[in-house]
Amino acid sequence: MRPRTPTFKALPLLGERARELSLCVYCPKLCRSECPVSNAEPRESLTPWGKMSAMYFVADEHVPPDPSFTNLAWACTGCEACKNSCDHKNPVADTLGVARAAIFAAGKAPAAAVRVARLFAERKAELGQRVAQAKARHGLPDAGAQVAVGIVAGCTYLRRLPEIADDVIVAANELAGPATLMSSCCGGALAMAGDAEGQRQELVELAKETRGMRLLVVGDPGCAYAIKKGAAAHGIAFEPRIVTLVELASTNVNRLSRLTSDVAGDPLLPPVFHDPCHLGRGLGLTSEPRAILTRLYGAPPREMHENREHTACSGGGGLLPLTMPEVSQEIAKGRSREADGQLLVTACAQSLRSFRKAGAHAEDLATLIARGLRKSHHTASPAG
Ligand code: SF4
Ligand code: SF4
Repeated sequence: MRPRTPTFKALPLLGERARELSLCVYCPKLCRSECPVSNAEPRESLTPWGKMSAMYFVADEHVPPDPSFTNLAWACTGCEACKNSCDHKNPVADTLGVARAAIFAAGKAPAAAVRVARLFAERKAELGQRVAQAKARHGLPDAGAQVAVGIVAGCTYLRRLPEIADDVIVAANELAGPATLMSSCCGGALAMAGDAEGQRQELVELAKETRGMRLLVVGDPGCAYAIKKGAAAHGIAFEPRIVTLVELASTNVNRLSRLTSDVAGDPLLPPVFHDPCHLGRGLGLTSEPRAILTRLYGAPPREMHENREHTACSGGGGLLPLTMPEVSQEIAKGRSREADGQLLVTACAQSLRSFRKAGAHAEDLATLIARGLRKSHHTASPAG
C-alpha cells in the first residue's frame, strides 16, 4: 500500500521537504551509528530517523507541537555525517534547518534559539566594535575605499577568540591583500536559530558591502558554508569569489615556512588534524589543510579515526552548545580523547572552543598559517 501524501497542515513551511521526511519515516535507519548526538546520548528520538520522524508527525498533526517533539529539530549539529550511510544521501541537516524555520515562524522554537535571534542585534553591535578595533589594530581601510579584497573573519573568532581573528586578518592580508574587514556576517547563527528571514537580511547586507570586490576571504569554514548555502537558498548574488583562508593558504603553500620547536633540539611532531564538518564534508576541502600542515611540519598530520569526508563532529555546531550543552560537551570530550594529549589542530572557531573546553591542547590552523608566514603575534605553540 502506498503511504498517503502528507498534508503538513501544522507546519506548512515543511511541505517542501515532504519527500525527505517521508524517506526517513519509512527507512530502516541505516545512518543511526553516524549521529554524534544520539551516540553521545543514546535515545531513539535523537537518531536522524527519530528527529526526521518527529518533524513529519508534528507537521502532519499526528502528534501535538509540544517541545518534546519540536525541540528535536535543534538536536542536530548540522554535521551531515548521516549522509555518509544514507543510500538516498538524504539531506537531514538541511531538512531539520527548514523545520527550525517552520517551528520558529510558528512561535514554538526553544528558548535558547529564540534568545540567539533576540540578542542578534546586540551581538552585531558588539561585532561592529570588534571589527572597528581590529581595523584600527591592523591599519585596515574602510570597505568603500576601493579595496578589492574583503575578509569575513567569523563572529566567534572576533568575539571569543580575537587573537585568532588577528591571525586570520594578517594571513589574508599577506596572501591576498591589501584587504579589509567586513562588518556584516554570514547570519549563520540566525539560520541555526530558525530565523531564516534574519539570515537573508544579513546576507543582503554582506553582498552590498562586498560589491565591487574581487575576492572575499572567509576565516571560519562554517561561515563560508553558511554564506554559500544561504546565498543559494535566498537567491542572493555575491560579486567577489568566496574562498576560505584554508584554500587561499593551500594555493600559496610555498610561501609558508617550516615551523620550529620552541625548545632547541626538540623534534617537532606533526599534530593531529580534525576536519571540521563544514570544511571537509560541506565544502569538500580535505587535501588543502593537509598540504598546509605537511608544509609547516615537514610531514603529514596524524589522522583521527574518522577523517576527511567521513569526519566526526566536535559537538560545537548547530547551536548544540546552547540547546544541549551536556551532549555537546560529551561529543567534544570523545573527540578530544582521540588526540591522546597531542596537539589537536582544527580550522573552525566552534570546534576549537569545544575542544579547549574539553581540556584538549588545541590550536587553530589559522594561527599556524600566520606563524608559517612569520606574522602571528601571539604565543601558540606549534608543538604537542
Ligand atoms: S537519513 Fe537516510 S539512512 Fe538515515 S533514516 Fe533518513 S533515509 Fe534512512
Ligand atoms: S546532521 Fe549530524 S547531528 Fe544532524 S542528524 Fe545528521 S548526523 Fe546527526
